[in-house]
Amino acid sequence: MSNITDEISKRRTFAIISHPDAGKTTITEQMLLFGGVVREAGTVKGKKSGNFAKSDWMEIEQKRGISVTSSVLQFDFDGKRINILDTPGHEDFSEDTYRTLMAVDSAVMVIDSAKGIEPQTKKLFEIVKQRHIPVFTFFNKLDRDGRDPLELMAELEDILGIDTYPMNWPIGSGQVLQGLYNMYDNKVELYKADANGNKEIPLEADGNIADGNVLKENKIWRDALDEVELVQMAGNQLDEDAILRGELSPVFFGSALTNFGVESFLKTYLKYAPAPSAKHTVDGDAVEPESDQFSGFVFKIQANMNPQHRDRIAFVRIVSGEFQRGMDVTLGRENKKIRLSNVTQFMADSRENVETAVPGDIIGVYDTGTFQIGDTIFSGKKQIQFEDLPTFTPELFMRVSAKNVMKQKSFHKGIAQLVQEGTIQLYSAWSSGDYILGAVGQLQFEVFKFRMENEYNSEIVLEPMGHKIARWINPEQLDEKMASSRNLLVRDRFEQPLFLFENQFAERWFKDKYPKVELESKL
Ligand code: GDP
Repeated sequence: MSNITDEISKRRTFAIISHPDAGKTTITEQMLLFGGVVREAGTVKGKKSGNFAKSDWMEIEQKRGISVTSSVLQFDFDGKRINILDTPGHEDFSEDTYRTLMAVDSAVMVIDSAKGIEPQTKKLFEIVKQRHIPVFTFFNKLDRDGRDPLELMAELEDILGIDTYPMNWPIGSGQVLQGLYNMYDNKVELYKADANGNKEIPLEADGNIADGNVLKENKIWRDALDEVELVQMAGNQLDEDAILRGELSPVFFGSALTNFGVESFLKTYLKYAPAPSAKHTVDGDAVEPESDQFSGFVFKIQANMNPQHRDRIAFVRIVSGEFQRGMDVTLGRENKKIRLSNVTQFMADSRENVETAVPGDIIGVYDTGTFQIGDTIFSGKKQIQFEDLPTFTPELFMRVSAKNVMKQKSFHKGIAQLVQEGTIQLYSAWSSGDYILGAVGQLQFEVFKFRMENEYNSEIVLEPMGHKIARWINPEQLDEKMASSRNLLVRDRFEQPLFLFENQFAERWFKDKYPKVELESKL
């Protein structure tokens, strides 16, 4: 690669977040279509019948009809190299989803314009906001009778607490959808071609349609103009710095299914979305992408993409320098040298061996149990350790035991490895030592059970304990008598004590009883 700076500036690495059914898959398919990766829409979901379908992991996906894995798709469009990191939208999603957001430079939020903001959008958005990730909004399904666009904009601002700026505006919707007023390019994109076969109307300098065009006389157009004037007068300025700080979301309308407004959205998005930027180390130093030293971090580990091999893939987001196949790197946590020879990249249509990759790219490193989530790898002598990936306090708990007591060995091995991988959190009851699993979503338990059986030949019994509130306690303040049936005392895998409270009342009762005891929601 001759000019790495140039290559980096072309990268756009993002995730699409949405509530299930808002249209994330459909819009992804359209994007792949523009990228020339697929020839017809429908192949993203169709991939499950291809080679990938053989993997154990995909089997779960097929059974549940949902996307469990956060897959990575790479393709080229409009002079940019795009990496889309897929995040499951299912409500039972797991920590994977959150961690994937740590590996992107921006996010696209797809919202069903008939439904507005739904719970899952909100949950994902909270992470985006916390991390100041630039976020772009796409109100989808404009071909259906949706809600008033002004109301949708207001809802974004009120419920999510982010400023908005309209990049285009719907001219009608549903039955009477005429087109999109594309303010950015000063043109109207027509939903259906006009009598002369045109799909676009260029606008006058003042943003209006030239005299003589039938649309100009249409009330729907005049209403759209009025609304645009209203939002522009009362609303925010298009402030690029505010976008990059994640404080202002550019808003687009369109219809993924009818491929309307998606291409202009993608082009505009690629212009405003940030290229890969510096990332901070635990010492607070910024590692710039252009640095000569290669570095990256593991944000996801996925098992058995190929069922013939009991291998795992560690997904590494490259932060700085150039990756070259066969290069030697150091795994910071263990100060261990590793040669990166067996590495894949995730082109949308195939998994190919990769020769080089640059910051912003995701590479998949074959792993035989070396990596943990959050690991930093780097070339050269200077130690780099990126900031920890956030861990999420589990809310759901289950007791776990081996079905066959004679098979304790495979049971313990499986648990140890899957926990190390970050699949799930492990605790043990303080007095009995019973194993307890903690997760963010129900799906994590299912994946865990499936993998224990398939990879470690260990059938397990899961006993639901329901929702709990996990609170860590300073070991010096701990008295075992504080434990009760409403606040179970357990230890985490670092031997730190915590209580699992039945509910908020139990926690409050505890606080009243032991006012001096400090409880932490995270270790
Ligand atoms: P995901 O769960 O967010 O990935 O949603 P999908 O992309 O699978 O879409 C959910 C459903 O909405 C599917 O039946 C799509 O065909 C439909 N859909 C997606 N985009 C549009 C759209 O723009 N208009 C209409 N009418 N339906 C859409």
